[in-house]
Amino acid sequence: MTIQWFPGHMTRARRQIQDKLKLIDLAIELLDARIPLSSRNPMIDEILQSKPRLVLLNKSDLADPEATRRWVEFFADQGLPALPIDAVGGNPSREILLRSKQLLSAKIEAQIRKGMNPRAIRALIVGIPNVGKSTLINKMAGRKVAATGDKPGVTKGQQWIKVGTEMELLDTPGILWPKFEDQTVGFRLAATGAIKEEILQPEEIALFAMRYLVARYPAAVGERFGVNEVPADPSDTDAVVALMEAIGRKRGALVSGGRVDLEKASLAILRELRAGKLGRITLEMPDEVQA
Ligand code: GDP
Repeated sequence: MTIQWFPGHMTRARRQIQDKLKLIDLAIELLDARIPLSSRNPMIDEILQSKPRLVLLNKSDLADPEATRRWVEFFADQGLPALPIDAVGGNPSREILLRSKQLLSAKIEAQIRKGMNPRAIRALIVGIPNVGKSTLINKMAGRKVAATGDKPGVTKGQQWIKVGTEMELLDTPGILWPKFEDQTVGFRLAATGAIKEEILQPEEIALFAMRYLVARYPAAVGERFGVNEVPADPSDTDAVVALMEAIGRKRGALVSGGRVDLEKASLAILRELRAGKLGRITLEMPDEVQA
């Protein structure tokens, strides 16, 4: 699914989320654990205002565990509790409920003091396209309630989805736009598959990813692609392209005459990266983006 984001769509998406803030106790901000900041909406603080917020680092099954640990610390330093999850292979409902209760403990305790039965925590999941919102809603609901590929700006009746007895989710997630303006962010989004290739050339995306892999995960590159020599300098474009060609040759990505089809080679590299075939890889670290 590709959403064409125009300023009007952004305004509408923002307003739709802000209208729902009145209904909820808690916003659940879903990020991609492999690119936590690049998968973040640039206006998220303004949009969610002072609403209590839980950050979820989804697709953590694909991310480097040590990097994820550092990202959790990064968010904690900003006063945001963050929880790594795997919406496909795991069932994070209990942990999400637990963290949500901790976040809202003052409110819940006040209700108990007044002799009230604390009502179910009401939450809204927000995030950019393809971050896993629908997958998570369906997992928490225990059935298929959210259609993947929901379009921004399409309103339908709101439904509360029960997650056990102590939590309720809005069935339609808040769809946010990513930070398009920054080219590096665009490459990271493309490398993880959050945005489709039509916007950027596969060769460019794969070159970007390969530079990063060579710098941060040389052993994984050597192992996965059976190459003995990984370039020592990721900024050496010729050497990195030569590596991509060597991989293409191994993958049979050839044109007539036996030359390597670099586009096909790039698509193969990206497919394997996104599928986790190189192991658990994170494509941005807190120390790189802190500036
Ligand atoms: P949405 O656009 O935010 O609703 O995203 P979807 O729920 O449609 O998910 C986009 C893609 O990411 C789908 O192919 C999901 O199977 C996949 N996905 C979602 N969560 C996870 C996860 O935790 N791990 C992995 N490996 N894939 C996930």
